[in-house]
Amino acid sequence: MSLLEMHGVVKHFHRGKEDVIALAGVDLSVAAGELVAVIGPSGSGKSTLLHLAGGLDVPDEGKVQVNGRDLAQLSVGERAEVRRREVGFVFQFFHLLPTLSVAENVELPLLLDRRKDRRQRIATLLERVGMSHRADHLPGELSGGEMQRAAIARALVADPALLLADEPTGNLDSATGASVLNLLTEVVTESGTALVMVTHDEVATQRATRVLRLRDGRLDDFTPALETPAH
Ligand code: ADP
Ligand code: MG
Repeated sequence: MSLLEMHGVVKHFHRGKEDVIALAGVDLSVAAGELVAVIGPSGSGKSTLLHLAGGLDVPDEGKVQVNGRDLAQLSVGERAEVRRREVGFVFQFFHLLPTLSVAENVELPLLLDRRKDRRQRIATLLERVGMSHRADHLPGELSGGEMQRAAIARALVADPALLLADEPTGNLDSATGASVLNLLTEVVTESGTALVMVTHDEVATQRATRVLRLRDGRLDDFTPALETPAH
């Protein structure tokens, strides 16, 4: 079953008088258990693609469906609910709230949904990402790798169908990045969550079940083995 469907998605931005076409007609279908890597140069629309896939922004044209729900047919409140329940986000700069502890950051998506099983879910996820011993720490007291582990716990705590990660190892050294990537691919595989990950990391593209490339707002299938020039 397809957890993410994007059809003919177009997105423009206006910068002063300039019209920037971030996405020029993107089609994408992602099934449960898939691990899709999206590569492409800076400014090619990668972050825009993830924002639209997760309902953080709306397209100018085209359709986005998450777990069978057409985001354009939903009210603002319903779209927020889909974001909370069906989608998890992991960002390059973690986006943890600095005044909340690790456990409180992880609790946030559940709190917004008034879930009753919060304590159990937090414990399970912190254990899963190896952060139980940091539950009461503030983000500022953590290393980069620990912050990203906490962010992964937060992204998965509501058991989303779809995980969207925007350069999740982009701000980590390569050893830390590799361990975060291991964790991410393990939890995604275990939970059956679909993962769409923007990355420059070669290890990440090797782990992917599919690699796609964004160029000039268009998405192509990209199979590195076929693109390597003969020499
Ligand atoms: P990437 O993540 O691949 O670097 P983005 O999706 O961030 O690319 O951006 C794609 C294009 O859209 C870029 O030209 C960028 O400057 C432009 N863009 C993205 N977000 C905005 C915005 N909020 N306002 C104006 N232009 C934007
Ligand atoms: Mg980006």
